[in-house]
Amino acid sequence: MSEATLAAIDGAVASAGELLGELCAISSESGNVAGLRRVAERLGAELERHGLAVAIEVADDTAQPLLLAASEEAGDQPLLLLGHLDTVLPASIPRHDGERLVATGALDMKGGLAMLVGALDVLAARDEAPPGDLLLLAVPDEEVGGEIAQPAVRRWGERARAVLVLEPGEGRAGGETIVAGRRGLTEWTLTATGRAAHSGLAYWQGRSALTAAADWSLRAAALSRADGGPTVNVARLLAGSAGFVDALATQHDLLGSSRQRNVVPDRALAEGEARYLSSAAGREVVAALAALAREVGAAHEVELAFATGTAWPPVDPGGAGSALVARLVALAAARGLRLEIETDRGGISFPNYLSDPSRVPVLDGLGPVGGGMHTREEWVDLGSFRRRVLLLADLLAELRR
Ligand SMILES: [Zn+2]
Repeated sequence: MSEATLAAIDGAVASAGELLGELCAISSESGNVAGLRRVAERLGAELERHGLAVAIEVADDTAQPLLLAASEEAGDQPLLLLGHLDTVLPASIPRHDGERLVATGALDMKGGLAMLVGALDVLAARDEAPPGDLLLLAVPDEEVGGEIAQPAVRRWGERARAVLVLEPGEGRAGGETIVAGRRGLTEWTLTATGRAAHSGLAYWQGRSALTAAADWSLRAAALSRADGGPTVNVARLLAGSAGFVDALATQHDLLGSSRQRNVVPDRALAEGEARYLSSAAGREVVAALAALAREVGAAHEVELAFATGTAWPPVDPGGAGSALVARLVALAAARGLRLEIETDRGGISFPNYLSDPSRVPVLDGLGPVGGGMHTREEWVDLGSFRRRVLLLADLLAELRR
């Protein structure tokens, strides 16, 4: 590479750092429509400079902006890049502290957004084109449940050839991470119906819904396995008479009183969720919970009805994205950067919104590392930011077709 090219690359990385400072100085906490729009516009202008077609859609009746930036051939099966415009806190004045930029959203995740502009500038400096089917989707509400983000990711990710998530990686001793796996979850409810009886006069005629539900809960939680296995969390367990459990809102003053202590409880309700790293593991743990309900119900002579509710699909670390993860790790190694692979990141996020993450290769945590997320002391490691700008440029060059 010529001196001039190297200088142009340095310049591209440096101006991405300046753009990051600018983006962080704009308040764009969730719900701040004007601020979110300013971030979308500032970012959109940078992407237009690279020939991307930029559209700021109005996502809902509150006029929250959704930024879309598309290369010419981003039609049917785009290379989808995902990010969010919103932060948890409003902006404070960004400041430098050695190699740290301390600023709201610097890590989560204006760093990832500025990185994309930097990577496109680096490619231009190297006289290389970005992938012709690139599509960036930046949503306004990731930090507040993602009601706008969820359908948007589902829609644009439906037929994507790959999904790159610009959320931050994590710093580790001697390296940094990217994210290859994310847990999915299934919510469940267990309803137990036993037989009420006077505990003094007819104790043995009663069938306690409470002890059945408690027994089931213990055994359900015991299905959890450390180190990548499934987990079952029993989040709530409520038991007593049917009148108490079914009408808790009006009957809660029973708690702490002497009333009905002499009744074998005929109703219990348990609620919780199971988390897992692959769809197969998800099906298995749900089937095990249902079988447990039949078994424990029979043993206690109590009717146990098990039902599942809302579910989010997992990103399997050994699934469709493995080859892409390996390519990125190799690209990083070529730059002397050791990337560790996070196979088990918790929390529901962008990739879980895809209708079928087992079909599309997903690379998550491409953003720079730092700390203090969602606090006044949030910071990003500028060394990591520069490294990841170059790495993203390498990845985009590799994904050109
Ligand atoms: Zn984030």
